[in-house]
Amino acid sequence: MMQRAALRLVDRVCPGCGGGDRRTAHAFEGHTIVACRACEFIYLPVAVDPAIFAAGAFAWENANAIKLKNRRQKSPLRTRLDMATRFRTKIAKKTPDDYLRKAFAGRGGRPRVLDIGCGAGGYLAALAVAYTPFGVEISSELARAAQVICGPAGGEVLAMSSLDGLAHFEAGGMDGVVLRSYLEHESQPKPLLSGCHRVLRAGGVVVVKVPNYGSLNRRVMGTKWCGFRYPEHVNYFTPASLARMARETGFAIRQSFFDALPSSDNMWAVLTKV
Ligand SMILES: [Zn+2]
Repeated sequence: MMQRAALRLVDRVCPGCGGGDRRTAHAFEGHTIVACRACEFIYLPVAVDPAIFAAGAFAWENANAIKLKNRRQKSPLRTRLDMATRFRTKIAKKTPDDYLRKAFAGRGGRPRVLDIGCGAGGYLAALAVAYTPFGVEISSELARAAQVICGPAGGEVLAMSSLDGLAHFEAGGMDGVVLRSYLEHESQPKPLLSGCHRVLRAGGVVVVKVPNYGSLNRRVMGTKWCGFRYPEHVNYFTPASLARMARETGFAIRQSFFDALPSSDNMWAVLTKV
């Protein structure tokens, strides 16, 4: 396991309500996931200093390559099977675009859409077809790659932490924000949502995809659930805790039964700035 000192872990209070009173929800090898006694939010009581993700071994592009290699060495057959059956996750796979299209139906022009944690811009390239794409990415190397896609399409990628990036965009200038597999990583999810609220115009939307801690899979798989990732995943949202945080940061939330299927590891939601 990676050493605490090497990771520069910082302590956290409840990201839902700011409280410090909590109980252990899960105990893994060497760490715990806790539940806030005041609001029941499930979270990792420590977070990695985001500065270490900017470049080097912990930058997303490098850390993922290392992780895959470790998995292959540890469990080659299972990894190969998992990789070979990736089509499982592609069946009827939703994209943020499905939600954005609905939200912008009848609206002309090229709505401005911001992808938080945009990586090398793989998804921004898809966005660039119909939207003016913007991104924020903490890894400077990935941000440079994403800018190559966004620049010619009239957008811009900022190589910053998400909160710093959001603060750089003007208030009310965005039509949409995409938080795709992002909120579970953000050590300050509430300020992050408030930042999204600030950059959106009235009626603008945030499309969220996040692991669903309330899913049946999590209950069945226990600590083997794929949503548990230490130390990357620091927030474990349920439909209820996501709805609460959305309301408290100025959004109306829309989530159908099909957006949070009990059989899926992830859930979707559309937050509208009110
Ligand atoms: Zn709390």
